[in-house]
Amino acid sequence: MSLRYKIAYKIAVIGGDGIGPEVTSAAVDVMKAAADKCGFELEFKYLKAGGCSIDEFGIPLTEETLEECRNSDAVLLGAVGGYKWDSVPADKRPERALLGLRAGLGLYSNLRPAILFDELADASPIKNAKNIDLLIVRELTGGIYFGDHGRYESDECLSDGSEKGIVAYDTEAYSEAEISRILREGFRFAMGRRHKLTVVDKANVLESSRLWREIAAKIAPEFPEVTVDYLYVDNCSMQLINRPSDFDVIVTSNMFGDILSDEAGMITGSIGMLPSASLGAPGKPGMYEPVHGSAPDIAGSGKANPMAAILSAAMLFRWSLDQAEAADMIENAVRQVLKAGYRTPDIISSGEGIIEADTDMIRENVIKLL
Ligand code: NAD
Repeated sequence: MSLRYKIAYKIAVIGGDGIGPEVTSAAVDVMKAAADKCGFELEFKYLKAGGCSIDEFGIPLTEETLEECRNSDAVLLGAVGGYKWDSVPADKRPERALLGLRAGLGLYSNLRPAILFDELADASPIKNAKNIDLLIVRELTGGIYFGDHGRYESDECLSDGSEKGIVAYDTEAYSEAEISRILREGFRFAMGRRHKLTVVDKANVLESSRLWREIAAKIAPEFPEVTVDYLYVDNCSMQLINRPSDFDVIVTSNMFGDILSDEAGMITGSIGMLPSASLGAPGKPGMYEPVHGSAPDIAGSGKANPMAAILSAAMLFRWSLDQAEAADMIENAVRQVLKAGYRTPDIISSGEGIIEADTDMIRENVIKLL
C-alpha cells in the first residue's frame, strides 16, 4: 500500500485597503477550490500592510509582517492606499509597504503578462485586436529609481543667457550582475513560452543600455532555441500599438518596464484583468498582486473585478508552487466565465448574452467552472 500525503504550502495573504480585501478573498476561495481538486493543501496566514497597518500599528509595514512573508512559500497581495491616508507624510504612506515588501523579500523581477481574452477584444483600444499574449519582465530593484539623485545650484547659463538655477539629477546605473540576472530571467520565461525575447533599451544614447546589449549577446548562445531581437524603447512603445501580437517576452530596465507595462496593460481592455508577480532568488517567496490599486471609489460596492487577483493566484500556483495544473485550471475557468458573458462594470460591453456581474458572482462562477 502506498503512503499518500499532501503537501501544505504556506501562503501569506495581505488584503490591504479599499477593494484589496474583496478581491483577495475571491482569489483565496478560488485557490482553495483549485488546490482541493488537484490534491494539495494550502495554509493561509492573513496579514496587514498599508493603511490598515497604519491604523493598527502606526506604520505601513511591521517587521513581524515582513518576517511572516519571508517564512511563506508565496505572498498574495490585494492593494494598499486610499483617501483616508492622503495626508500622512510621504515616508509613512500606505504605499511604502510595497517598497518595504519588495526590498525585504529581495524581489528583483517584475512580471506583467498582457493577454487579450477574445471575449474582451471590443474593450481594447486597438482596432481588430486579437492574439495578444505577451509578458513584460521588468528589472525592479536597480536603475534610475535607485541611482544617485539630488539637486544643486548651478552658476552656469543657457545659450540664451538665462541662468540655470537649480539642477536636479537622477542616475541610471546598472551592474553586470543585475543585468545578467534579469536577462537570464527573460530567456528562461521565453523558453517556457514561444521562444521569442525582445530586449528593450535606449542603446543609441545610454551607456547602461549598451552594456545590456553586450550582456544579452553573451548570454544568448546559452539559449539557442530563443530568438532574440533588440528594440529601442521609443520604437517598442510604437510597435506595441502597431503589432502587439508579435511580442512574446520583453525584458527591460526598471523605468522602461514601468512605462511599457502600463501601455501593454491598456491594450488588453481593463485594469481589472491584469495580474502581476514579483520574484526574487529561486526558492524565495514571490509576491503576486493585481496591477490595479485599492480603488476607494468602488470599495464596498461589490463592483470590484476580482479577475486580476484570481489570475495573480494562478501565477502564484505556477511560479512559486510549481502547480501548473491548478494554474491552468484557474486560467481556463476565467476564460469560461468571460465566454459565458459575465462582466463586472469595468469590462461591461453591450451585446447579446452579457450578464452584469458583481465580485461574488465572478468568484462563484470561476469556482463552478474549475
Ligand atoms: P486604482 O487602480 O485604484 O483605480 C483606478 C480606476 O480603476 C478607478 O476608477 C477604479 O474604480 C478602477 N478599478 C481599479 N481596479 C478595479 C477593479 N479590480 N475592478 C473594477 N474597477 C477597478 O488607481 P488610483 O485610483 O490611482 O489609486 C487608488 C489608491 O490605490 C491610491 O491610494 C494609490 O496610491 C493606490 N495604489 C495602490 C497600488 C498597489 O497597492 N499596488 C497600485 C496603484 C495604486
